[in-house]
Amino acid sequence: MNAEDPRRRIPRTDRVLADPGVLRAGAGLGEEVVRTAVVTAQQRARAGEVAPEDVVAAVVAALTARGASSLTPVLNATGVVVHTNLGRAPLSDAARQALLDASGYVDVELDLGTGQRSTRGAAARQALLNACPAAEDALIVNNCAGALVLATTALAAGREVVISRGEFVEIGAGFRLSDLMESTGARLREVGTTNRTHTGDYRDALGPDTGCLLKVHPSNFRVDGFTSAVPLPQLRALADEFGVPLVVDVGSGLLTPDPALPHEPSLWEALEAGADVVIASGDKLLGGPQAGIVLGRAETVQRLARFPLARAVRADKLTLAALEATLRGPQAPVARALHADPARLRERAEALAAAVGAEVVPHDGRVGGGGAPGVALHGWAVRLPETAAQPLRLGRPAVLPRVHDGACLVDPRCVPESEDGALQEAVRTALEGLD
Ligand SMILES: *Cc1c(COP(=O)(O)O)cnc(C)c1O
Repeated sequence: MNAEDPRRRIPRTDRVLADPGVLRAGAGLGEEVVRTAVVTAQQRARAGEVAPEDVVAAVVAALTARGASSLTPVLNATGVVVHTNLGRAPLSDAARQALLDASGYVDVELDLGTGQRSTRGAAARQALLNACPAAEDALIVNNCAGALVLATTALAAGREVVISRGEFVEIGAGFRLSDLMESTGARLREVGTTNRTHTGDYRDALGPDTGCLLKVHPSNFRVDGFTSAVPLPQLRALADEFGVPLVVDVGSGLLTPDPALPHEPSLWEALEAGADVVIASGDKLLGGPQAGIVLGRAETVQRLARFPLARAVRADKLTLAALEATLRGPQAPVARALHADPARLRERAEALAAAVGAEVVPHDGRVGGGGAPGVALHGWAVRLPETAAQPLRLGRPAVLPRVHDGACLVDPRCVPESEDGALQEAVRTALEGLD
């Protein structure tokens, strides 16, 4: 390095750390976060990407742009409503506020009137019961997989869970519900075949070894053609005949039937058909935080709540707060996106297309990881060159478009209307960078 080398002018770490602007931008962030931002900016200066004089400004910009965690908020322009890679359901404003309110000390297990300990999460439980009056009792756990393990372990550890072969579901990332249940000591007794299961198949398997009868909604795939499954009322009759509990995993967490999703079972329907307990996810079609919902007959729900494993899958106070606010609050973003008016989606897409000089094409949205495979949600998207996808993802705000058929499609369905201006700016910036 000679005396003229600009790299000699790169400020030292302690000097950058002591800069008043850096101190301001870094207040509230961890020391390590700030130090990493400084080292990164110095490296960029050494590589010639940043002038040595701009290192402090680069650190301030990096600290201001990032939040306290490295999770980056993303505008979901894919048209996929419950997007697994984007954290499933986005929370409503009410649920976000509830999260903040619950983040300090809260009376989650305290009666402020008496000063005595109270039942944990009683308000969230009551909100669930109000939303689903067909249930006698409710329990909230960490997620639906946790609820399934709890139910099958509490009801069938050391015994058999009778389930149709057509309902062996892999939920993603290689996790299979069957492995999950067997991991805690219940044995699975498969009945029927992949496409057809009859009442007689269940009858042959039920007996003194049966811990429970389980029906799982195949939420992420569909078997068409020569198929047959035993409807819930008939399973109820079998459960009564053999004196075993009937557990139903509906997966998606629809509270009541939704005409837009004709084949998606709801918690209400399963309870009406006589399930002892119904379980579902909180962050799919219910539109709330990650949670496992357990609803059903008081005796069975309480048996699960008292089982030791319940403590290991307990929901935290943030979940309880956000779930209650979702259930009591205004329509959740998931419901809004599912029922978005196609005419309005077209107007929004056309406004964006006009602003950035692109064209609008018909584009079907999807329910996504939440269920309803094969259901097309009619809508519109703005068609951009495929090369716009990466700059959109790396932009501020980050935008996730759908890359399909050699194009980059920007679908406004899952973007809050209040963010249309930010989306337009992001698309404009991404396109400018292409020339
Ligand atoms: C999604 C799903 C699960 C797993 O739910 P998590 O909340 O992710 O644990 C279990 N069963 C069914 C039928 C599902 O669709």
